[in-house]
Amino acid sequence: MDSHDTRADMTDERRVLEVLPARPVREGAGVRLRRGFGEPELPRFDPFLMLDDFRADHPKDYLAGFPFHPHRGIETVTYMLEGVIAHDDSLGHHGIIGAGAVQWMTAGSGIVHQEMPRPVEGRMGGFQLWVNLPAARKMINPRYQEYGAGAIPMYREDGVMVRVVAGRHAGVRGPVNGIVAEPTLLDVRLAGGATFEHPTFSDETAFAYIYGGDGTLGPDHVFVSDAQVARFGEGRLVRARAGEGGMRFLFAAGRPIGEPVAWKGPVVMNTAEELSEAFWELRDGTFVKGAG
Ligand code: FE
Repeated sequence: MDSHDTRADMTDERRVLEVLPARPVREGAGVRLRRGFGEPELPRFDPFLMLDDFRADHPKDYLAGFPFHPHRGIETVTYMLEGVIAHDDSLGHHGIIGAGAVQWMTAGSGIVHQEMPRPVEGRMGGFQLWVNLPAARKMINPRYQEYGAGAIPMYREDGVMVRVVAGRHAGVRGPVNGIVAEPTLLDVRLAGGATFEHPTFSDETAFAYIYGGDGTLGPDHVFVSDAQVARFGEGRLVRARAGEGGMRFLFAAGRPIGEPVAWKGPVVMNTAEELSEAFWELRDGTFVKGAG
């Protein structure tokens, strides 16, 4: 039997457990962005750690960017709507993440990189999602998966457009592969009044981040609008209905890891000792291990 079909159960619709407004934070070289969830919400979004929304009303505010900084123990997922991010790292990897593209970076044992936003025609914006790694995989070699806009398949039906970045939707499979949390990441655009239905495994963590328009989610028709994150309870089906003006949102689901989290800035491990070790290694120059 196709495992996908076993997820769909129209009577087991996920309720919305909470709706959080994205909050303003400063990161990198003083860049202002909005955070949908992060450390204060631990462990409710497990395996996801953080979601940042860096859509810019004033792209110049972002030019200082995110100069060289380390990561260990996590994956960072950058998904661009507009503009580009120029990326360079300690392993000699560099490139441009353009509009509609994704970079799924498994930091593993560690990389030191910089991420520098550049507006295109005055526009810049996108998202960064952090996905945790389990203890057994935190020190794996770094790995990149990068897909341009044309490599991300789209599912279309009346009033519904879904770009499938990871996982699958209605038989369309996203290009990102081999990720421990077996994540689903969808970019959903609904026309006014349209309905989105997506089957999930019951015990996956699932959330939606609204980034345009408004609508309702779940059997209780919870109202959501721009720059809000909604976390779903367990169940086998997610349902979203757009308001009259349509709705755009990211949808993500993944298997919880269920391990202790020790988090300091860009390093996320299981214990305080592992954090200390990481920051010692940064000071003595032994942080970067494997080849990318
Ligand atoms: Fe980074």
